[in-house]
Amino acid sequence: MTNLKNLEGTGHETYPYICASCGNCTMVCPTFRLLRWESYGPRGRLQITKEILEGDRKLDDEYVRKLYLCNLCEHCSQVCTTSLRLDRFWELTRAAVWDEGMAPTPVKYTCKSVVDHGDPFFMGSASRMVWSEGLDIDIEERVRVPAKTAYFLGCNTALKPRLHGIAQSMIKILEYAGVDYTILGEKEVCCGAPLIWGGDRKSAPKLVEKNLNLLRELGVERIIFSCPSCIQHWPITFQEAAGAPIKREFEHKTASQFIRDLNSRKMLKFEYQPNITVTYQDPCISARRLNIVSEPREVIERIPGVYNIDMLHSKSDTRCCGAHGLLNVADPLVSSQISEMRLRDISVMPASRVITECPRCVQALDLATQTINYKVQVQDITELVASSLKDKEGSHSE
Ligand code: SF4
Ligand code: SF4
Repeated sequence: MTNLKNLEGTGHETYPYICASCGNCTMVCPTFRLLRWESYGPRGRLQITKEILEGDRKLDDEYVRKLYLCNLCEHCSQVCTTSLRLDRFWELTRAAVWDEGMAPTPVKYTCKSVVDHGDPFFMGSASRMVWSEGLDIDIEERVRVPAKTAYFLGCNTALKPRLHGIAQSMIKILEYAGVDYTILGEKEVCCGAPLIWGGDRKSAPKLVEKNLNLLRELGVERIIFSCPSCIQHWPITFQEAAGAPIKREFEHKTASQFIRDLNSRKMLKFEYQPNITVTYQDPCISARRLNIVSEPREVIERIPGVYNIDMLHSKSDTRCCGAHGLLNVADPLVSSQISEMRLRDISVMPASRVITECPRCVQALDLATQTINYKVQVQDITELVASSLKDKEGSHSE
């Protein structure tokens, strides 16, 4: 019996024995690249986990700190010689640590907020519609009305002022294209991803169920997401709660998938932009888990006058923005230093804007522009598209 007893029986406790110790994972790990210490990287952490599982080492705060100094960016899984799903291993190990009551205090508070308030920021339902202030359409008419398409904002987009432009842009796109859509308004709750990242896996299905029940009542068939993590976690969480693989109940689309489809069906038309060169930041989950790399590039290419130049580390080899997996909660300094490393990749590109489709990437990279004083505009693809729409009479629409 070890202090990671709840990891036993998950099928993942064998990982440390399968590892070939090649070091591929260590070389790509942002935490290792920043801190340069083997035990902070995945290979080292895997070996320490093995010692704990074998009873040769105690589960202590130092190990827990290292376990949560991880973006869950999946880069280690992407390059693993023995095909280990390491990000999943870290999540399940965090769950075992959570069950021992040893998760870092800020992580515990964040998870408590998700359970008690429905979001990670202690804000609650009263703040869920603040993002819509200033919109020149009557958004109340769209709240929980029956429709086949739903727009799921996610906590960051709905609640962080820097990101409200993403939600407003998506509403503008939906209205422009004449899509019949609904939003959950103040009844939308967190997708549950922070609970999975923090280790409180058992609380996540209740949140998923709350959102799903509302969507079912409205007759929704397709959900548009502003955050790739919401897409990733709904099916996983739900499947775990059901105890077996389940059929996807709804069609899930990222912003770029949805926008590309609308444009292909001539429901969105773009105005020429005056020679804007951008570089696209692939969010880790979009690129490595959802395999969505061509759609955002196609959308950018379809806007006349906008050109994308890929960074050296892009698509499935993308580098994390630093704000995934609750690292920004567990250690904000390490998180922001990883964001700065990614901004340095961007800074060598001849681009005046970095475009992405993840609210956490926008927030983290934007903050890094201030901490390293490098001027580049950070935009979600939804914002780029909304500001490039041709108005219906043919002149530029703002
Ligand atoms: S998920 Fe990312 S941050 Fe975490 S160990 Fe793997 S490469 Fe490092
Ligand atoms: S890449 Fe895979 S096999 Fe190689 S050290 Fe990392 S975990 Fe072990």
